[in-house]
Amino acid sequence: MRLVHRAAEGAISIVYPPSCIACGNATGTPHAFCAACWSSIGFIERPFCERLGTPFAVDLGVPLLSPAAIADPPVFERARAVARYDEVARKLVHRLKYGDRLELARGLGALMARSGGELLATADVIVPVPLHRWRLWRRRYNQAMALAKVISDESGIACDPFLLVRVKGTRPQVGLTRAQRGENLQGAFKTPPEARARLKGKRVLLIDDVLTTGATSNAAARALLRGGAAAVDVLVFARVVQD
Ligand SMILES: [Zn+2]
Repeated sequence: MRLVHRAAEGAISIVYPPSCIACGNATGTPHAFCAACWSSIGFIERPFCERLGTPFAVDLGVPLLSPAAIADPPVFERARAVARYDEVARKLVHRLKYGDRLELARGLGALMARSGGELLATADVIVPVPLHRWRLWRRRYNQAMALAKVISDESGIACDPFLLVRVKGTRPQVGLTRAQRGENLQGAFKTPPEARARLKGKRVLLIDDVLTTGATSNAAARALLRGGAAAVDVLVFARVVQD
């Protein structure tokens, strides 16, 4: 983790004045996170489910699938996250979403590029989960797009946000059951006909800020596969982990 810390520092050392990107407290040095916040981030590392990326409590020493991945296989192939969606991660994602914090996107994106190294090694193209145009208009920018741009810069893999569009303005997912989330997202994503030639046979790395139940990732992955993608992996900053 020291290595990741240093890499992240390098990427976001341009933040000025030097303050922690999680709590805003002065750091004294141009570090991205203060020591307290850094140590309280719930980083997800192996052992984890090879499909869902959810951490295992014990290490059995072999690649394994979680019971959830076997019982209800996702549409996407693999998901990876930097951290658990806990208090610090929630704060970071909230600021990324509702503030104009492009430097925060740079820091979080750099961490995602590290955690998603395996996925990036096989990815042909990076696609951010799109917002519906109304929400984009209200919020002014798409946080998934901001992260995708940074990950594209870090990895050298092209980002093509026009391979997937959100055609349905969906209700916020908060407070919905798993089944309602799936229903809410039915037909929400499409691949534009003019994009299908570019998408055909490609391994897509889908980027989002948070993975909750996987309903959004599954809906987006389904649309990409229908549009001709060979496979879809998912990389997020934080994911909900049920203990
Ligand atoms: Zn802090």
